[in-house]
Amino acid sequence: MADSVPSLSQSQIPTPLANAPLRLPQGVVSAQGTLVVYEPGSGKLLGEVRVSTPLQVTEAVAASRAAQAEWGAESFAARKAVLLRFQRLLLERAEDFCDHITRENGKTRNESLFMEVLPVADAVHFWAGNARKLLRDEKIPLHLFPHKKSYLRYYPRGVIGIIAPWNYPFSIPTGDAVAALMAGNGVVVKPSEYTPLIMEKTRALFEEAGLPRGLFSVVQGRGEVGATLVASGVNMVIFTGSVATGRKVNVAAAQQLVPCVLELGGKDPALVLADADLDSAAKKIAWGAFANSGQICASVERVYVHESVARPLTDKLVALTKTLRQGEPNTHEVDVGAMTTQMQLDVIQRHLDDALAKGAVILAGGHITVTPSGARFVQPTVLGNVTREMAIVRDETFGPMLPIMTFKTDDEAVRLANDSVYGLSAYVFSGSRAHAEKIANRLIAGTVMHNDTLYTHAAPETPWGGVKQSGLGRVHGKHGLKDLCEVRHVNLERFNVPAFWYYPYGKKAWTNGLRLYRTLLGNGLGARLKALFGKH
Ligand code: NDP
Repeated sequence: MADSVPSLSQSQIPTPLANAPLRLPQGVVSAQGTLVVYEPGSGKLLGEVRVSTPLQVTEAVAASRAAQAEWGAESFAARKAVLLRFQRLLLERAEDFCDHITRENGKTRNESLFMEVLPVADAVHFWAGNARKLLRDEKIPLHLFPHKKSYLRYYPRGVIGIIAPWNYPFSIPTGDAVAALMAGNGVVVKPSEYTPLIMEKTRALFEEAGLPRGLFSVVQGRGEVGATLVASGVNMVIFTGSVATGRKVNVAAAQQLVPCVLELGGKDPALVLADADLDSAAKKIAWGAFANSGQICASVERVYVHESVARPLTDKLVALTKTLRQGEPNTHEVDVGAMTTQMQLDVIQRHLDDALAKGAVILAGGHITVTPSGARFVQPTVLGNVTREMAIVRDETFGPMLPIMTFKTDDEAVRLANDSVYGLSAYVFSGSRAHAEKIANRLIAGTVMHNDTLYTHAAPETPWGGVKQSGLGRVHGKHGLKDLCEVRHVNLERFNVPAFWYYPYGKKAWTNGLRLYRTLLGNGLGARLKALFGKH
């Protein structure tokens, strides 16, 4: 099967570098104390960055805290003005940012625009326009104490530590940072060791926009630098990454007694019901599975299709997959770019080998290519004859692999979709919104989308996060914004009412108190009247 599938067209494979320099493996710190980045899509040297020392991490947090004292006291309007300047500069330099992101991460140019730069520009617009309203004081009506008045006020937490992954090296940390800054916080970001450079560019842009120096800082290095950041006095941690690292970060944050949001992995299912528009479903599922070479926490990693439409849906997915153009990503003529890390490519190879050994069949794609210059590509791949015993159906693959399975009834579809340790997103394709909604409300996932995939990460008003092992807490939406704040409760007196619980204690207070509560809380009018007039 695999032999009949076309491989990458030769013209699209980047040529090896002439006299390519001896290179360090990805993510290894050089003798000079730097991380060196090679472009995943071409193997060319992109740049390097100095690794931060523990002292520099502590200093970055201290500088951010010092700048935050003033920033947090500024009006929303003043913060908004700076962030909108950042947004304007970002839109002006969108081409330059996309060019860099594509070179550093390997996603296509269009993906850098639509999945990284534009969502951040829109997030700034949204938070700048809405943070004040979402964070205004909230009254709490007190049903038992009308003589008192309670309200909540949201204060910035201080300095937010953001630990970011390599798959969205710009939009994930910058999107979270913008919300944190609008809420009045300082931010220190630790990017992934594989994609450290874009955050340096982002910091420079924030400063050019007028953000106080040091308020937004970047510390660089491997995992231990992230661990140092968590331990260095930040007031909250937003971690996006793997489940294994997320557990460690959660423990470390608990030791500091600081809150921690964890955005972790996924194995997201797409359910295609018998009444779905199959052309539309195939198009959106293929994009949901193969965008960013499948390196998305919410990628479609499992398809369950009703047996009555399994054949036509599979044919459409296979045909569409075979049309996808893959190669050096920094052009508009490529649909699928490169794999950011060799480590992930190895995971995909293992999952594919395991699936094939257990009887899976490649229906499209199946080729994995590493060029002599070090560029890495996994061909978008559709797999049939797959079972739950295969790692590719159970574990997060984080690559462009699409296993297709069938179901007979809605109950079976729901059971199969929920049969995972993960619960980030789930997708339901149906021509009936009512039918989709019934199923959506039975799926155990942070987000369920009807007739779509992936896109709500770019809708800042909706919450993002997972259940089960996909994470804890939420970013985005009003819940994510409020979580970036410390909520403080103030209770004021409207007028003084003597209550039963003050000194001196005695039988009279006991009886009156009991009578009052039994009257107010009694079950039914009869019980209440009896409580009011009866003996206590
Ligand atoms: P990792 O967990 O390997 O790394 C994430 C970040 O944590 C990196 O910056 C890493 O640094 C850092 N880190 C490593 N060890 C520690 C430590 N002990 N303390 C603090 N920080 C540490 O994840 P990946 O970068 O490989 O990202 C891929 C994973 O992220 C996938 O599982 C994916 O599903 C998930 N993800 C989830 C998203 C969501 O919204 N739910 C979105 C995007 C990705 P270094 O890279 O230098 O090791």
